Amino acid sequence: NNKPKISIQDQRRNLPVFDKRNKLLELVKRHKTLIILGETGSGKTTQIPQYIHSARLQENGKIGITQPRRVAAVSIATRVAQEFGHGMTVGDTVGYSVRFDDCTSNKTKIKFMTDGMLLREAMYDRLLMEYTVIILDEAHERTIHTDVLFGIVKKAQKTREDRNQTPLKIIIMSATMDVEHFSQYFNNCQAVYLEGRTYPVNINYTIKPHDDYQTSCVATFFKIHREAPSNHDVLIFLTGQEEIEACAQRIRLLAKDPDVQGPSVKCFTLYAAQPSAQQMSVFQPSPPNTRKVVISTNIAETSITIPGIRYVIDSGMVKARTFHPSTGLELLKVQRISHEQAWQRAGRAGRDSEGHCYRIYTRSQFELMKKSTVPEIRRANLLTVSLQLLALGVHANYFDFLDKPPKEATVAAFEQLQLLGAVDDVNSICLTPVGRKMAKFPLDPRFSKIILAAEQYGCLQEALTVVSLLSTESILINPVTKQAEAQKVRQKFCSAYGDLITLLNIYREFEAVGQNNKRIWCHEHFINMRNILHAREIRNQLEQLCKKCDMGAMSSCGGDLDRLRKCLIMGMFMNVAELVRDHQYITLDKKQSVQFHPSSCLHRQQPHLVLFAEVVQTNKCYLRGLTTIEADWLREIVPDYMKSHSLRFNSS
Ligand code: ADP
Ligand code: MG
Repeated sequence: NNKPKISIQDQRRNLPVFDKRNKLLELVKRHKTLIILGETGSGKTTQIPQYIHSARLQENGKIGITQPRRVAAVSIATRVAQEFGHGMTVGDTVGYSVRFDDCTSNKTKIKFMTDGMLLREAMYDRLLMEYTVIILDEAHERTIHTDVLFGIVKKAQKTREDRNQTPLKIIIMSATMDVEHFSQYFNNCQAVYLEGRTYPVNINYTIKPHDDYQTSCVATFFKIHREAPSNHDVLIFLTGQEEIEACAQRIRLLAKDPDVQGPSVKCFTLYAAQPSAQQMSVFQPSPPNTRKVVISTNIAETSITIPGIRYVIDSGMVKARTFHPSTGLELLKVQRISHEQAWQRAGRAGRDSEGHCYRIYTRSQFELMKKSTVPEIRRANLLTVSLQLLALGVHANYFDFLDKPPKEATVAAFEQLQLLGAVDDVNSICLTPVGRKMAKFPLDPRFSKIILAAEQYGCLQEALTVVSLLSTESILINPVTKQAEAQKVRQKFCSAYGDLITLLNIYREFEAVGQNNKRIWCHEHFINMRNILHAREIRNQLEQLCKKCDMGAMSSCGGDLDRLRKCLIMGMFMNVAELVRDHQYITLDKKQSVQFHPSSCLHRQQPHLVLFAEVVQTNKCYLRGLTTIEADWLREIVPDYMKSHSLRFNSS
């Protein structure tokens, strides 16, 4: 606090990577593929693309830099645009491209994007001719998209070389990784290690295990707050928006308590579903005599570095998506982090000087954690990737993966693609016309199928709305202290057909409200205005894609919601659950025992059959995003599937 303001160019010169500038440029010039390892915060992501650009190593093409998360792509591009030039705004020389948001122009030379976006671009141009340099950043995270991109860029580089076309340079950047494994995959390419500056971090464990890690994080924060000087900032790692907002609310409230002695507190949050201006504000230094506390998901682990942190509070938890081929369910689950992640989190406290890390777990709990995180390709549902690879002309069984996905997962994905009508059989190496259309939509293939089917059911308007709402963060706000109130004012939208129709009702009402009253309407109904506007933006883009696919008129089913519910079955029939007894359900696909999530508008009711959008696991498996359906409809709409999946109660 109160430090003299350092100019942005001095900040750049102070980064550890600055001294290595010439050496790095020399290596980039000399090698067609290069691995760059370096401590988090050393300046890899923000600086290296600029160095390459100013040395004109990209010649006549673009530099593309991938990030696993959209938040990181947007905020880093914004920062680099500021560093790059006076009054330069993002979208000029420096731009970004993330799903449903393209901020680039024909002047763009340095393009930050999500790994998913570059993969989409590869579907239109397998050789990625737009780029002369591609940087796959945060490679240690091993997201499924980055893993697939390793194979795509390797192939593109080779083909361009064989055909004497403009060469493609590949740079793999990461905080930690198994260099040997990566280097072998890229024909024993060169690796360089950038030393960072780190200070010792003193690690503290809890004596007993704490089940309620959220409360322990808050308590630990106030323990630090009472003792540490006010310019020592704190970073807390939690798992997601709900947890983070709840924790922030508790800290803000308690900080006002006169019994809590200490400086004032300024609390920031950092998670995916936040407006980017709010995300950028975490970089602001706090005013004098104020403690800054940032509560973040694992995005602050390696992608984004916040200066000034002296204390880290690590819940030891992360939210991750995991697919179980045996149950057919992809679960969103809060789980323990790995040792690698725990060390990265602790490292955030030692960037500027010596720091402290408080782990909200015992030493023996730590010992039990996995050494490293399992690559996503080995634990994710491969449906989307298998479809994308087919659109690129490769069957997932023959793709050059860095690590092969489990056989059962590929088999499950191809069975689903066949059921969705995207391929004729599981060994097929080409897509059906429906499959080709499905691949054009940047969506889960099940959602693309719903949109395609909506033409036939005459409910395209409604299907677009529902799919858009499922493709963004929740539009419902449920504040901890006003949960009952929120549910009460939204009661009038609740549909006996379930959550998706309820969401549709809310969206229809939102559209009907006059432009000037929308904000107040959202406020009154506890609707997240930004998220609903984002859904509307996504909806517009999907509508454009429908037109490109010659899908004809924007039909609406009006009040005839049976048509929409039938249409949903076309994409989601693999997500059916059937009532067994007293609020207990089993999935039709693999007979897993499940329940309705308490947040569902159907959770007090017991419809015979439902479709579900998502499964969340805590101690049990909970279904979210429900829609009631009829047994007869299943037999009529997906007869083949129903031949192998019989209902327990055969009457409708
Ligand atoms: P690495 O990729 O090696 O982890 P980065 O290039 O992301 O490192 O970060 C370099 C520095 O840039 C960090 O000190 C970070 O705090 C700073 N930085 C990044 N984004 C911003 C921003 N929006 N405002 C201020 N500083 C930023
Ligand atoms: Mg980085």
